[in-house]
Amino acid sequence: MRDFFFNASAMEIMLSGLVFFFCMYFLFCLLNIAFSSRIFPAFKKGRVLDARPIDNHQLQREIGLSLVTITIFGLGVIFPWGLLQLGWAQLAENPSLLQITIEIILLFFWNELHFYISHRLLHTPWLRRFHKVHHQSMTTTPWTTYSFHPIESMMLGSVLILPMLVHEFSVQALFSVPVFSFMINQIGHANYDWFPESQFFLFQGARRHQQHHEKIHGNFGFALDWLDRWLKTDLSEKNNQR
Ligand SMILES: [Zn+2]
Ligand SMILES: [Zn+2]
Repeated sequence: MRDFFFNASAMEIMLSGLVFFFCMYFLFCLLNIAFSSRIFPAFKKGRVLDARPIDNHQLQREIGLSLVTITIFGLGVIFPWGLLQLGWAQLAENPSLLQITIEIILLFFWNELHFYISHRLLHTPWLRRFHKVHHQSMTTTPWTTYSFHPIESMMLGSVLILPMLVHEFSVQALFSVPVFSFMINQIGHANYDWFPESQFFLFQGARRHQQHHEKIHGNFGFALDWLDRWLKTDLSEKNNQR
């Protein structure tokens, strides 16, 4: 994978990016729907988080916007690739499993920070008009996952640029970021609490993001709540104060 990333032409890298994001989006949205709308309800497991119906054109709008995001993310692979071609970034050679694991953990926390900062900026008066596109989905669906204005897609898609400039990451760790980020986002927009008793951070994160779509003014974090708690934007604490 490292050699491919280094040696591919610009056209090959962008085409691979498009195919990758397109397949990941449609495959996992369909799986998510199968589990949250069919399999779990059939076994009376879990519960719907927000029972309000979605608006008439929501799915059409979400899939249309997601196709634009897929195009931006897919073609955007040219930027990390370009950093390598320019010699501004390097990829680790023969990384050990330990190195890959530590890098994935570091990138996980960086992704949390990058998302929180981007998301709070998107809620400021200057950028709110772009983010309201995502918030048109009051009741979320798996298709909401990539339903962004192009400006928001570019902001979120820039997550790897800074880390690559300061450290030689393994290609595996870099590749893990869009994958785990997408999975967490899928769980967060499923509008389904798979395991209501579970305090596992992924399911708590999903409940928190659903609350964010419902109440807007808080829960800006991604999978974890530490930044929301630290910066006093946690909705459960705000509700308790009332
Ligand atoms: Zn928001
Ligand atoms: Zn959302």
